[in-house]
Amino acid sequence: MNFDIEKIRKDFPILHQEINKRPLVYFDNAATTQKPSVVTQALADYYNQYNSNIHRGVHYLSNMATDAFENARKYIQLFINAKNAHEIIYTKGTTESINLVAYSFFKRFVKSGDNIIISALEHHSNIVPWQMACENHKAQLRVLPMNENGSLQLEKLNDLMDDKTRLVAINHVSNALGTINPIKEIISIAHSKNVPVLLDGAQAISHIKVDVQELDVEFYCFSGHKVFAPMGIGILYGKESLLNEMPPYQGGGEMIKEVSFEKTTYNELPFKFEAGTPSVGDVIGLHKALEYVQKLGLENIAAYEDELLEYATKRIQEIQDVRIFAKDISKTAVLSFLVGKIHPYDIGVLLDKMGIAVRTGHHCTQPIMDFYKIPGTVRASFAFYNTKQEIDLFIEALKKVCQILS
Ligand code: PMP
Repeated sequence: MNFDIEKIRKDFPILHQEINKRPLVYFDNAATTQKPSVVTQALADYYNQYNSNIHRGVHYLSNMATDAFENARKYIQLFINAKNAHEIIYTKGTTESINLVAYSFFKRFVKSGDNIIISALEHHSNIVPWQMACENHKAQLRVLPMNENGSLQLEKLNDLMDDKTRLVAINHVSNALGTINPIKEIISIAHSKNVPVLLDGAQAISHIKVDVQELDVEFYCFSGHKVFAPMGIGILYGKESLLNEMPPYQGGGEMIKEVSFEKTTYNELPFKFEAGTPSVGDVIGLHKALEYVQKLGLENIAAYEDELLEYATKRIQEIQDVRIFAKDISKTAVLSFLVGKIHPYDIGVLLDKMGIAVRTGHHCTQPIMDFYKIPGTVRASFAFYNTKQEIDLFIEALKKVCQILS
């Protein structure tokens, strides 16, 4: 391990509290991550010192806020190695980024009888917007199937595509299982038929270095709150050539050049897709969060989280009748499991009584649960501020819970 875990934990005040008279063990990082003090301080500084609406402002505070807002865009550009800052579009989160593309890309590029491809491993956010768009445009939604071990049946992708396939939209990492999908191969197969690719990076951005130019991916989406930044801010990266062709998603202020009652002309990128007052403070918070991650180093983070996952996977097998999903494939630090016939919800509720926060249920991936014919799983998901000691507390608590429930 290349970083000082005690020092890191001091940066996250929320971790140092008791829940139900036990030290909090926060293992729900796939749902949302905690925020370091540099992020909460940046929010406080913004609201206490230079809160102001951005762009077109003539006054000092507005210029300060605009600079911070646009500097953040440049930082995010570098963070994912986009070619241009105007290819970074601010949204509310991954969900809105995907909805934007589903609306706007479809309107420009998808006709009746066309099809797009998603996978069996998708979050509802990467299913429903496409279903809605397919319904509106009379297009077909095709699904790349999964294997029992939690991986995708990549060999089927080529056969699913034909000359009417307009897009492949797949997650980089599965939130329910942690599966790291073979995105380079997926992009290469799609591009061999000139089909663009959208990657849902909600679960990847805090664990894996993303280089959109090296990937040569057309769209990449993520949420700030999954990468130690505030809720309410997200990113859509899109290749300039495509974004330029796509019509605006929402109308309003900021996205226009000129408005009259007869005709409106639209603003250039990125503003064409940023109607209305944006969440300026959250953008500044995202900038700070990404700086924090960059300082730790995504390689260090991944190596440490791998250690945590390996340790937790080993220890959880001390529990009788435990079933671990996607155990033997390449994945991020997600431990999705069931114990015997015990309902996942009951495990989650009792763990909470012992101060341990995990998520239970279908994790917004009902098709995965249907595939396994289960109601849901218990999901423990780790971040770089978690420790092996916390995993020990979790395992001891889980043993007690299973004793009580079985
Ligand atoms: N995709 C994946 C893989 C996710 O894990 C999530 C959040 N759980 C989303 C999309 C949606 O993200 P948000 O709710 O932040 O828009």
